[in-house]
Parts: sequence; C-alpha cells; structure tokens
Amino acid sequence: MLKPKAYSAKAYSAASATSPLASSTIPRRDPTEHDVQIEILFCGICHSDLHYARDEWHSFMPTVYPCVPGHEIVGRVTKVGTAVMKFKPGDLASVGCLVDSDHTCPHCQAGLEQFCPNQILTYGSPDKHLGGVTYGGYSDSIVVDERFVLRVPSNLNLAGAAPLLCAGITTYSPMRHWGVTKGKKVGVVGLGGLGHMAVKFADAFGAHVVVFTTSPNKKEDALRLGADDVVVSRNADEMKKHTGSFDFILDAVSADHDINAYINLLSRDGNITLVGAPQKPLAVSAFSLLIGRRSLSGSPIGGIPETQEMLDFCGTHNITADVEIVPIQKVNEAYERMLKSDVKYRFSIDMASLKSE
Ligand code: NAP
Ligand code: ZN
Repeated sequence: MLKPKAYSAKAYSAASATSPLASSTIPRRDPTEHDVQIEILFCGICHSDLHYARDEWHSFMPTVYPCVPGHEIVGRVTKVGTAVMKFKPGDLASVGCLVDSDHTCPHCQAGLEQFCPNQILTYGSPDKHLGGVTYGGYSDSIVVDERFVLRVPSNLNLAGAAPLLCAGITTYSPMRHWGVTKGKKVGVVGLGGLGHMAVKFADAFGAHVVVFTTSPNKKEDALRLGADDVVVSRNADEMKKHTGSFDFILDAVSADHDINAYINLLSRDGNITLVGAPQKPLAVSAFSLLIGRRSLSGSPIGGIPETQEMLDFCGTHNITADVEIVPIQKVNEAYERMLKSDVKYRFSIDMASLKSE
C-alpha cells in the first residue's frame, strides 16, 4: 500500500519516561477516503496519559518514545475524505481511546471494539498509515477514520465534554453492564476524573451513591456532584457501617490500595469492578470474595456505539465533566497535581495555547 502524504502538526511529546512533555512536531496523514481531519479544541488529561508517558505500564504495554498522550479529544472538522458520510467541515467531532480496529472479529461485529484483539489505540499503537506509532490528542489536529469519530451534542460545554471520551465512557459502560439503576446501592472509590463522572452517572441512573475518598476536603463536592453519602476511607469506623451492603462498587483508584476493604462492603452476589489501573498488582483476599459469593471484575473504556449512546445521554441530561482549563504549557504541572489528587476534577487543555509554540 502506498503511504499517504503527511503534514506536520504541532504537539507536546515525552522523549523518555523521565523527561517532561515538551513542544514538538509530529506527522499526520493527509485525510484519505474515509478520514476526518479535526482541529483539536480541547483535550482532557487522563491519569492513563501519565501512566503511559512515564512507562508505568511497562510490563503490560511498554511505552514507545517519543509519545504524544491524549485520548479525550473534542474539536471541529476541517476536512473530510471523499467517502465520508457522517461529517462535514465545520461540524463538532470527538475522538476517544480508539482510532481503529479490525472490523471483522466477533467483538467488532457486536460493536464492542474495546475487546478487539487488533484494536488501534489513539496513542502508542502501530500506525498502519505512516509507520511508527499513533500520536494522541496533545496536538493541534488529528486524522481519524470516520467510524471512530463521534458526534458531540451541541448543547454541551466543549472543555467539559472532552473528558467524556474516556472518563465518561469508562464509568458509564460498566455501570450499564452491571445494572446500576434506581434502588441499587452503588459505591464509587476515588473522586478523581473517572470517579466524579461515575458519581454523576450513578446519580442520573437513580442509584443511591456513596463516595469513598482519601481526601476529606472533597466531601462537599461529592455531595454536590450527586452522592448521597461520603465516607473517608481511612476511617475504619465509617467503613464498617457499610459492611455487606453494596450491590455494586466502581473502583477508580490510580495507585496501590487495599481492595479487600471494599470487597467486604459488597452484599451477597455483589460486584466490584476495577477501572483504575495501578502500576502494581493488587492483593485480593480469597475469603473476602468467597464469603457472599462476591465477584471482582474489570472494565476497559467502551465500544463506539455505546460511546455515542453515552454522549447522547450526556446531551439529554446536560452532563459534562467539572474541569479546570489549562494551557498546554502547564501540562507537566497538571501531572504533578494529579498525582497529589489535586484536580477538580479533570484538567482540560485549551489547545489554542499550542498556537504560540
Ligand atoms: P485521577 O483523576 O488521578 O483520580 C484518581 C483518584 O484516586 C484520586 O483523585 C484519589 O481520589 C484516588 N487515589 C489516588 N491515589 C490514591 C491512593 N494512594 N490510595 C487511595 N486512593 C488514591 O485519575 P483518573 O484519570 O480518574 O484515572 C483513575 C485510574 O483509572 C488510573 O489508573 C487510570 O489509568 C485508569 N483508567 C482506566 C481506564 C479503563 O479503561 N479501565 C480508562 C481511563 C483511566 P480521592 O482523593 O477521592 O481519594
Ligand atoms: Zn483515559
């Protein structure tokens, strides 16, 4: 296959696990037949960007440098390929964690591209068009096959809509899967980017929501975001009150923690789903699980049809992330603050700031 022509795009990239992100340029392909070119307006900062840029997931997916993170992308269409049907220049468009898949496996056929063994992630996957690896959304533009480009409801604030593309779908999908509805008691562990979206969705689905946080200063925010109760997880007495009572718990913690403390809070047949992806394996007590026939599972992002469903749900219910808008020049500082759980509750990069680089 002939390589498509490429142009040069501005980006922020990391050259190694220990170097800060810095201004650079990357190649992007000229849109081919099925491609949509998007001028990126906002890109959320996901904790996965930090894990990846610092090669913290080395044993699972070693980072290829230079890397350009960013998979919470919202922007405006600037150009489309001749066969593109869904988008035209000027439209709002968004891209999440996936930019391609094989389209033929049973998962793709079911619209569950997040399980495709040949999926192409927005950053760090082989780039079949230009060679090398894919580059993410810390950039002024991106070119994506229209099948992986999503529509953004026009009523949503764009800076706050960007995080829906990862934090949104990653929390919406498992809660739909495990039947979070009215009458269910649902726990959310870790009030960060993912956690605060989980609270908003669980509340919108009508569940009784309890937030578990290590940050006592987030209590009021948790209630404002839709929680019915907040537990400071370092307080053993507060934790004990909830023993055996949860139908479902979503664990969105980015670092090592005692997951057994939460498994013990599940009711009979209750489920705890991990969406957080800490660097080190978690220790699980067999007794915590077998008592009560409880289950522990995980969940990765979501497929394209469900991501569109989630965005449309957010349009109807006017749900966006609570964001602090930052220029790209503050991205390294934002990473350090994220590590200190000091973000309320997602950084969203205003990509206009890249123009001055
Ligand atoms: P984040 O904004 O940094 O939030 C993580 C939260 O975890 C913090 O705000 C904090 O909440 C809590 N926390 C941090 N360190 C802790 C510790 N040592 N002990 C206990 N709690 C701690 O991160 P995020 O962007 O929401 O991402 C969370 C995790 O999900 C990351 O590991 C990320 O890679 C992963 N992720 C997975 C998927 C997927 O497909 N499954 C998708 C996106 C992200 P409190 O202050 O409330 O305690
Ligand atoms: Zn993410």
